[in-house]
Amino acid sequence: MTAHIRPDLDSIPAYVPGRSHPGAVKLASNETTIGPLPAASKAIAEAVELANRYPDNQSGELRAALAQFLGVEPANIAVGCGSVALCQELVQITCADPADEVLYAWRSFEAYPIITQVGNATAVTVPLRDHVHDLDALAAAVTERTRLVFVCNPNNPTGTAVGRAELERFLDRMPGNVLIALDEAYYEYLRMTPGDHPDGVELARNRPNVVVLRTFSKAYGLAGLRVGYAVGAPEVIAALLKVHIPFSVSRVAQAAAIASLEARHELLDRTEAVIAERDRMRTALLAAGYRVPVSESNFLWITLDAATTEFADASAAAGVLIRPFAGEGVRVTAGDPHENELFLRFATDPETAAR
Ligand code: PMP
Repeated sequence: MTAHIRPDLDSIPAYVPGRSHPGAVKLASNETTIGPLPAASKAIAEAVELANRYPDNQSGELRAALAQFLGVEPANIAVGCGSVALCQELVQITCADPADEVLYAWRSFEAYPIITQVGNATAVTVPLRDHVHDLDALAAAVTERTRLVFVCNPNNPTGTAVGRAELERFLDRMPGNVLIALDEAYYEYLRMTPGDHPDGVELARNRPNVVVLRTFSKAYGLAGLRVGYAVGAPEVIAALLKVHIPFSVSRVAQAAAIASLEARHELLDRTEAVIAERDRMRTALLAAGYRVPVSESNFLWITLDAATTEFADASAAAGVLIRPFAGEGVRVTAGDPHENELFLRFATDPETAAR
């Protein structure tokens, strides 16, 4: 006889990670192509020497470094095993009854429906409008059971972003007892006009019901080490620390994150090259007749409708792995120029267009 497993897990969509294939170029998971900085590699090697000891469960040194960088207090910061763990922990600290609602736009980050169902809460979704968050519709979908709202800005997988003024208007309309999570995993790639730059940490400063999520996985290039952080009111942060899986952010991850934060100017310089490549790819794809919304992230969304799966399979056969969303479109990460050129050669080949 097999053990009893929650039957509702059967209906949970599996999180489908970007495929990898030996020898193929991987533009499927919004990672950086360049590996860690030498300073991070050195910190990693030193931290490994203490692998026999548990890490600091409070990530004290990393939180202090982040607090200084962001101009907040360490009590405003929680660290998690990737920001996806913090997304899950936010459901855990807000939802205690199956009727409690988690609200988010769709399509957005694939983990939201999974963590909501695993958290035994109810998902409420609102469609994007032209691939962009429809904040009016999102505000209109709030009920007295809404506990948590995710706003992914820039949005994964469409790459689009909403500006500060629109976001502020939305936050000001939200009831104070609803927690709003601004998921800024791609924050470092945002280049909106200075007056409309949507800096979640700034917006959360005087709004205790707003929490911001950022990560070292994307622009900081540490996806494999699993470290992200939340910035918010001390009460929210204290609750996150309670549901945190003990020691789930390793010593290696903490050390690499501190070293990368110290060397952030070097890392953030790299984002300029990625942004230039992203824009070059978009221009070439538009010229070839594809539909590609403006991106504020390190990836592009290509609307392909029914042709999606075939396009992604053909791209893989041409040696470039991208992320398909069946029936909708594909998401393509901006990699290095060589990788991007391989993809563009495939996508703009007249044979691909004729499919
Ligand atoms: N939020 C968004 C919008 C993401 O795209 C991702 C990664 N795909 C995450 C959070 C989680 O990133 P990580 O757990 O690696 O920090």
